[in-house]
Amino acid sequence: MATAPTTARLVDRYGRVARDLRVSVTDRCNLRCRYCMPAEGLPWLAKPEMLTDDELVRLVGIFVSLGVQQVRLTGGEPLLRRSLTDVVGRIAALSPRPRIAMTTNGIGLDRLAAPLAAAGLDRVNVSLDTIDPQEFADLTRRDRLKDVEAGLKAAHDAGLVPVKVNAVAMRGINDHSVADLLAWCLDRGYELRFIEQMPLDAQHGWDANTMIGADEIRASLSERFTITPLPESDRGSAPAERFLVDGGPATVGIIASVTAPFCGACDRTRLTADGQVRNCLFSQRETDLRAPMREGASDEELADLITGEMWRKAKGHGIGSADFVQPLRPMSAIGG
Ligand code: SAM
Ligand code: SF4
Repeated sequence: MATAPTTARLVDRYGRVARDLRVSVTDRCNLRCRYCMPAEGLPWLAKPEMLTDDELVRLVGIFVSLGVQQVRLTGGEPLLRRSLTDVVGRIAALSPRPRIAMTTNGIGLDRLAAPLAAAGLDRVNVSLDTIDPQEFADLTRRDRLKDVEAGLKAAHDAGLVPVKVNAVAMRGINDHSVADLLAWCLDRGYELRFIEQMPLDAQHGWDANTMIGADEIRASLSERFTITPLPESDRGSAPAERFLVDGGPATVGIIASVTAPFCGACDRTRLTADGQVRNCLFSQRETDLRAPMREGASDEELADLITGEMWRKAKGHGIGSADFVQPLRPMSAIGG
């Protein structure tokens, strides 16, 4: 039987090494994207349940000491955490300094992109599923497209390049406008990546039969553009399959998390806003770091809890298998 690793590294029993830590800095959000949340929102974490800045930075430091090289701040909507710029500055001061990225819906980024970049943020992914105002309002249940556009421009101007745009296509909402979104991104120099919708919404509305798969997205884009796959060797552990658009140099990515999972090359681990370490988006369990930390655990003791949880990482997410069960926490509370 396999035994837990003795070296202080984030390895699992299948030999994968986690280098990329996703930190949810809040579970709150100002949008209500249909693939993520119900219209009424969710019961948010109470303040005492959330990690303080000191706790969060301490835990990120422990992950870095265990080999994490990139920290991605996410949520919920990370820009809703008031202390975010401070937190970025403190993570940038860790040694060795990790690369710092953020996934955001872009609302408020017009004001915050420059200070975040100055504090040490290296890259940003902005989620934008359509540039049609009506489709945007249908999909996010809020009329905030202009704010997102302003946020994207500010990120570009602040040098957070290449600015990446993440999009999810939903049938009957924005599936007919994926080529418009690509044209819009190409005009502005943003790198677009489509992500297949996953069963991670709080309301459990995901349906394998209506989900738009990578092949369908590619076919829709091909009606307007010449889409040529880049060689597999250019991909590394990156989840997106990338395509040259009209001969390049611009590219578009498609992340086929459901129809062609990349679990075998996964290098991610996650920390929730209330201090739980999760080895996978789809994990049915998590390890609490907050209570032991508040009870006085040492860095070594917390590191042992983290490596123990990593060791238990499952081989794959199992979507589509008969025994697949959607995780209790929705994407917005895990950190996407
Ligand atoms: N609020 C921020 C945002 O929207 O970018 C960060 C958190 S959000 C959970 C992170 C990413 O997860 C976004 O790009 C969003 O589109 C994606 N996402 C949310 N629910 C999803 C789902 N069910 N399937 C696939 N992607 C999803
Ligand atoms: Fe909010 Fe992001 Fe979820 Fe949309 S995907 S509801 S912006 S957390």
